[in-house]
Order: sequence, then structure tokens, then C-alpha cells
Amino acid sequence: MRITRDHVIYTMDKNNDPVATAKSGDSLIFETCDCFHDTVLTQEDLVSQINFDRVNPATGPVYVEGAEVGDALKVKISRITLAEQGAIVTAPGLGRLANEIKQEETVICKVDEDYVYYQDLKIPLNKMIGVIGTAPAGDGIATGIPDAHGGNMDTPMIREGAALYLPVHVEGALLAMGDLHAAMGDGEIMGAGLEIQGEVEVEIEVIKNCDYPLPLIETETSWITVGSAENMEEASDIAIRHMVDLLQKKTTFTFNEAGMLLSLAGNLKASQVVNPNRTMRMELDKKYF
Ligand code: CA
Ligand code: CA
Repeated sequence: MRITRDHVIYTMDKNNDPVATAKSGDSLIFETCDCFHDTVLTQEDLVSQINFDRVNPATGPVYVEGAEVGDALKVKISRITLAEQGAIVTAPGLGRLANEIKQEETVICKVDEDYVYYQDLKIPLNKMIGVIGTAPAGDGIATGIPDAHGGNMDTPMIREGAALYLPVHVEGALLAMGDLHAAMGDGEIMGAGLEIQGEVEVEIEVIKNCDYPLPLIETETSWITVGSAENMEEASDIAIRHMVDLLQKKTTFTFNEAGMLLSLAGNLKASQVVNPNRTMRMELDKKYF
């Protein structure tokens, strides 16, 4: 099943009408717009010209049959395909250097199977999904904001081969995604990755009565908990606490033992420190489980 990029939302909301219905085990392709709704295509297209009512479009939502409140939706990312170029932008007020940026600028970078070509440098390709989530239980949340439902987590580990476990807060889950990046460093310090159009193929699976702390990422080698909150400390505390919970669910470690293991071998990292909520993650090698 293919969900075309003309079906986008700007708010993850339980009241959004689903654009498709899927069931556990299905393979879906989401065509995605870039975060500027494909309006920054040349170096003359600047941030100040963007329509901010139409940023961070997420394709969807998809209603998943049998997904009920308290379940998890496992989203296995089987393939990410990108357009041939993307945009990195900067402008006064944007990102960590916001107050020091004097003029806005857009750089278009070519992309191939291996690299992003920035100036005369080659940056290894790291295809990733910036925005992916389900509908929250309460009021809708703008697609630019990460929170307990997922959303704009801008976490580089949400990439091909990884599985993302999202909470089901409303019947049918209402999965949506967008905001692909061809590359993005931890922190996303200027407020953008290499923003690019593309498509994502996923396999979805409903996990009944899931007691994992969510959202949660599983890679070939690691479990990764994700926390989003108003500041980095609070976001860190969520990611840390969730990893302690996961360890206690999957192993016989006590609370103290789990915490000490994380102190010895867990890696707390910044996913992004520029969005309306910050996102931190805790990574732990699977061998410790
Ligand atoms: Ca983003
Ligand atoms: Ca982005």
C-alpha cells in the first residue's frame, strides 16, 4: 500500500481522518515531503519565504486495524529512498547560534547512494526520519513538536533497519511520518538536517498490551530509549528512567543495578536541542540484556 505525499497533516490529532487503513503485518510505503513542503529547491529559496503554516508535513495518518489503547505499534523501517538533492538552511533566530546569525542562507546539496556533497566535502549518507508518531490521547500536537507520542524526535537512529515502537494512545494508532534527512549530526544545532523529499517503506505490527517504555528504538545492536521534554535535563531524565524500566522488565536487575549499569555502559546522547521540546536518548548495547 502506498500513501502519497498529497495526504499530509500538520498536527498529530485523534480527530484527523485516516487516509488509509492497514493491518498488523502490512508493508506500507509513505511518500514524504521535506520539512519545508518542498518549497526550498534552490539557494535563492530562503527561510523567511517559507510558509510556516505548512512546515513539517507528515504523510498520513494511517489507521491500523486492531491497534487499541495500551498496545504498541512496531514500525520496522525496511527502506528509505531519497530525492537527488536536499537543503540545509540557516537564518537569524534559528537553532543554537540563533542570536549570532546575521543573514539567512540556503545551501543545496547533491545526494547519492553514499554521500551528501556539502561545499567540497563528502558527508556519509545517514538516511533518517525526523518526524514519526501516532496521535496523542488529548489535544493534537503540531508535527514540529516531539513528545510521548513520537513526533519531531529528529533522532538519527530512526533509520533503515531499525524498528521504532510507538505508543497507541487512540484506537487505530493513526501513524504518520515525514521530515526525512539525508544527514544530520547529533543535536541538529542549526535547526535543520539535510532536508529532503523521499519515501519510506515500513512493516507495521501491533504488539498487544505492550509494557515497554515508549517511544523505543531497536537496532541490530542496541536498545534506545527516547525522551522529549522542555529542556535537555528533563528529556534526559525520561530517556534514562525509561532505560532503567526496560532493563527491569527484560532482566533481573534491581533499580540500583540497572542505574549503575547505565552509568558504566549506557550512552546518553542528544538527538536534537533545537525543537520546541528537546529530545535526548539513552543507548545500551543489547548484550547487556
Ligand atoms: Ca525535524
Ligand atoms: Ca528536518
